Amino acid sequence: MTPVATLLNTLSVRNPRNGVVSCDTPSTAIDQLDAIVSRARAAQVNWQALGVEGRIAVLARWRDLLAGMQDQLIAAVTLDTGRIRESRREAANIGKWIDRWSVIAPVALASSDGPTSMPGFTYTSDHAPIPVLGVISPWNFPMSLSVMDAIPALLAGCAVIIKPSEVTPHFIGPIEDSIAQVPELAGVLTYIRGAGDLGAALIDRVDGICFTGSTATGRKVAARAGARLIPCFVELGGKDAAIVLEGADLERAARAIVTGATLGTGQQCYSVERIYVARAIHDQFLALLTDKARKLDLALPQPDDGPIGPLIFAPQAAIIEAHLADARAKGAIVHCGGEIERHGGGLWVRPTVLSNVTHDMAVMRDETFGPLLPVMAFDSVDEAVRLANDSNYGLTGAVFGPQDQAMAVARRMNAGGINVNDAGATPFFIGDALVCANDSFGDSGLGGSRTGPASILRFVRQKMIVTNVTNDPSAWWYDV
Ligand code: NDP
Repeated sequence: MTPVATLLNTLSVRNPRNGVVSCDTPSTAIDQLDAIVSRARAAQVNWQALGVEGRIAVLARWRDLLAGMQDQLIAAVTLDTGRIRESRREAANIGKWIDRWSVIAPVALASSDGPTSMPGFTYTSDHAPIPVLGVISPWNFPMSLSVMDAIPALLAGCAVIIKPSEVTPHFIGPIEDSIAQVPELAGVLTYIRGAGDLGAALIDRVDGICFTGSTATGRKVAARAGARLIPCFVELGGKDAAIVLEGADLERAARAIVTGATLGTGQQCYSVERIYVARAIHDQFLALLTDKARKLDLALPQPDDGPIGPLIFAPQAAIIEAHLADARAKGAIVHCGGEIERHGGGLWVRPTVLSNVTHDMAVMRDETFGPLLPVMAFDSVDEAVRLANDSNYGLTGAVFGPQDQAMAVARRMNAGGINVNDAGATPFFIGDALVCANDSFGDSGLGGSRTGPASILRFVRQKMIVTNVTNDPSAWWYDV
């Protein structure tokens, strides 16, 4: 493919497994953005004109191409993240999500018409896509999060320009190669490479923006979008709580929670980051959790050798280290893990179970983004709910216990996606036609659901067309 932009500069990129920094990844210059956006704006007209079934057919061809490139995609995203299990999932996600959203799109985007309450008038409901949508995505699941909003937006009829994190750009090349083989996607789906300044410049030029990343950057993105009065969808950080009630299946709870807290080495927005356990079962649960956490090996020496991959972004190690130091200084007990380990130039953390923690500790308040499992006892269900809701965040949560009691607690938890007798399950329903919408509460985000029909309707403006079907003057007209 001949990219619209001549790629001038390069990004320096650190390999998370060996710490080696390479400087051979090209970056997009900000002064190329106007041309990239103009090209997208022009291409969007024909893309919209294809209609939803036409767009589904084109994306199905793209999906088939991607299916034949799984090895390349997995290799590239493994280079970015240092892990292979999640990379396989990331590569498979694109086709899965195209299929899923292709089921939702025709229903969500169908127009309707009918009579109104005013005699002589009918209405038609129609949709107009946001013409050019910008997507800014983070490094933790770099490939999946770059397409998670792009796929429903494309189906809605938008052209999409994606700026993934500069930390993990290797996966972009194979994706661009696949896009280049689908002529209808030329200009309609474009990746650009660069850092935060390029993302900021993108916001200044597009008609709507989707952002996934930290709450601090999300505030800047929302402010910039607000100044331009463009739609803005921000999916931000979390400090997700899990509650284990008396009567819960402890073996099940420990296994689900240790998984939910350490998948992707805890570098997930919806990781379990705080665990509250009924005092009567606290010690038994803690022993089970510690036993399971100790069994999770580092993915060394090869990416397939264990479930716990390296830290992708080196500065994250300092945050995890600071949370551990603060917790230790304030009296926390470390049952396993507890150190940043250096192997072959990479930075690693084993699943770390902590007890004797309090809400005075950063590890119970601030997003850690690592495989830490701090466990705190509670004396009543009311106290458990109060502690779980004592957070500025509200992304997801989990509760384990007898079904009715767990459901009652789930309804009281202050977060948009709650797992009952499971943990970290909600993202597996992305694009699922059979699931409802969920919002991010508090500092975890703003602007609409990534699940259910709402996930596509975010990207269209709704139009009301009213028609006077009579030959009569309307009652409010001047008599002139
Ligand atoms: P950041 O907020 O640092 O960066 C996110 C993206 O924004 C990157 O592409 C970054 O570019 C870009 N960016 C940075 N500054 C600006 C700016 N001023 N204007 C526009 N764009 C900018 O997040 P991380 O990459 O560190 O990702 C981790 C965070 O993402 C965690 O807090 C996690 O919870 C959250 N997250 C949320 C999810 C959700 O669905 N709620 C899912 C996954 C992660 P660059 O990296 O090149 O500087």
